[in-house]
Amino acid sequence: MSIKDNLQHIKSTIPEHVTLVAVSKTKPKEALLEAYEAGQRVFGENKVQEMVEKWEVLPKDIEWHMIGHLQRNKVKYMAEFVSLIHGVDSLKLLTEIDKQAKKHRRVIPCLLQMHIAEEDTKFGLDEPELNELISSEEFKKMENIKVMGLMGMATFTTDEDQIRKEFAHLKSIFENLKQKLPSISILSMGMSGDYNIATEEGSTMVRIGSSIFGSRNYS
Ligand SMILES: *Cc1c(COP(=O)(O)O)cnc(C)c1O
Repeated sequence: MSIKDNLQHIKSTIPEHVTLVAVSKTKPKEALLEAYEAGQRVFGENKVQEMVEKWEVLPKDIEWHMIGHLQRNKVKYMAEFVSLIHGVDSLKLLTEIDKQAKKHRRVIPCLLQMHIAEEDTKFGLDEPELNELISSEEFKKMENIKVMGLMGMATFTTDEDQIRKEFAHLKSIFENLKQKLPSISILSMGMSGDYNIATEEGSTMVRIGSSIFGSRNYS
């Protein structure tokens, strides 16, 4: 199946209001262009350097999403153009994004990453940490970031009930947060292996890589 066919297939299985982020990390720009020509405009990368290199050469109407774990010292390289940062999991990181966004006189949309999986290797906040962050004075003073919602990753397992439970948990945190912050509208959950469960549980944005571009080769 071609990239175009894969995109078409995925689009036909997710609800229309769900945004598809094509996760293009490690893939050459030719692959991204193929997806672009099939109409895809939203791409996700997990390394700042790689995203900058692709942004420089690819069409300017692409929306670039940073989906990976982000180091504070890298924010400055993408502050000019990034459309959404999914993996924000500390006030320190948010403070740096705010500072770099200000330099470019823009507001950078962000998602806070929640820890919902069993593995302790996955980054993210728990609900008390989330509430502490959003009620802090520093957070309330920030003018150059906009928290649009939450992002999370389920445990890497074949146990669908467990994945469903974790997504449902994230959805309930999302609903609670909506009551406190009016800007909340995006729930980023679901990857190649679990996006159907994620959309059934209320995802509004799925991040899909290998089911579009084929498996990644890290060698
Ligand atoms: C790589 C990655 C994805 C996409 O994974 P696939 O299984 O290839 O769809 C989604 N989200 C994050 C945070 C990723 O790093």
